[in-house]
Amino acid sequence: MSSTTTTHSTQQVDLRSDTVTQPTAAMRAAMVAAPVGDDVFGDDPSLNALQERIAAITGKEAALFMPSGTQSNLCGILAHCQRGDEYIVGQNAHTYRYEGGGAAVLGSVQPQPLVQDAQGRMLLADIAAAIKPDDPHFARTRLLCLENTWNGHALPDDYLRGATELARAHGLATHLDGARVFNAAVATAAPGQSALARVGEIAGHFDSLSVCFSKGLGAPVGSALCGSRELIARARRIRKMAGGGMRQAGFLAAAAQHALEHHVDRLAQDHALAQQLAGGLQGIAGLKVRSASTNIVFVDVADGRGPALLDWLQQRGVLATGLIGLRFVTHLDVDAAGVEYALDCMRQFFAHSPDRAAVPAASGTAVY
Ligand SMILES: *Cc1c(COP(=O)(O)O)cnc(C)c1O
Repeated sequence: MSSTTTTHSTQQVDLRSDTVTQPTAAMRAAMVAAPVGDDVFGDDPSLNALQERIAAITGKEAALFMPSGTQSNLCGILAHCQRGDEYIVGQNAHTYRYEGGGAAVLGSVQPQPLVQDAQGRMLLADIAAAIKPDDPHFARTRLLCLENTWNGHALPDDYLRGATELARAHGLATHLDGARVFNAAVATAAPGQSALARVGEIAGHFDSLSVCFSKGLGAPVGSALCGSRELIARARRIRKMAGGGMRQAGFLAAAAQHALEHHVDRLAQDHALAQQLAGGLQGIAGLKVRSASTNIVFVDVADGRGPALLDWLQQRGVLATGLIGLRFVTHLDVDAAGVEYALDCMRQFFAHSPDRAAVPAASGTAVY
């Protein structure tokens, strides 16, 4: 992969997200060769083929290609809910916290956020208690939205089953934000089970799900909403309204199709690299690994030194994010040498600046 070579000749290790990947040469070739047409007329053969393929993988009747995961979740929620309905969602879930409040702003759908545990689970008792009775005082509780993986954590099957059965028993629809569902599938597939078969199993718990091709799968653009024919027809109307009706988008679909063929099983390598990174980080005094699951590692930095460490790393070509603790994400364009280089840079930071008291901690627990 030429992109990896370029990255390492300049000692660039970009661990900000699995969205930063460059399309591989083979993916670019597939894109260039794609037959295309105007998808608003339903004429794009590459797009139609992708939608059929992802619908088959997820075991749904239909699928709709989307420019982003945000738009895919938005169209999913708005296709399930009417104005004045509400959806139950994790307090730190992407659809609630990181999508600009779109369901409320654009759909007048009220979120009912609930506390999640360290693995991303809402208590079933909390979900049950949040479902409102049919009474004019309340918004109509219509939808349960889960996220898998959440902060890298794959939700266990018994939880997926328990939460969605509870929702169904109360007449709620269920939606999965599966931006990284391929990572979840690779991490939880039974021995001998293919990752794509496992995606189908996870999807089987839900009425609809959104998957991203632009994260771990390494495509440049694109997500898909999968669900019943009827739901997808409603979502198509909402996508058009949101400005997401694209024309010769088959070029993008070809990249996603290539990713489905070639970049799913290799996610196991990203997961192994994340474990390699976490193992090295554990040996560095001043850092505490908060979690390391699938391809995402969260680290707490002692004494409020997170921002200084981020700067230090950036000056050395190692990029990470610091929104909720330092976050490192492995992906297609990271290798073992890059991970070792990043670890070296962090060891140097703590070796060269041992004065931990230099920056006062913002709080007693000193995390960034
Ligand atoms: C990235 C992400 C999204 C949104 O995807 P975009 O394509 O960036 O809009 C939704 N949910 C989760 C969990 C994500 O990580």
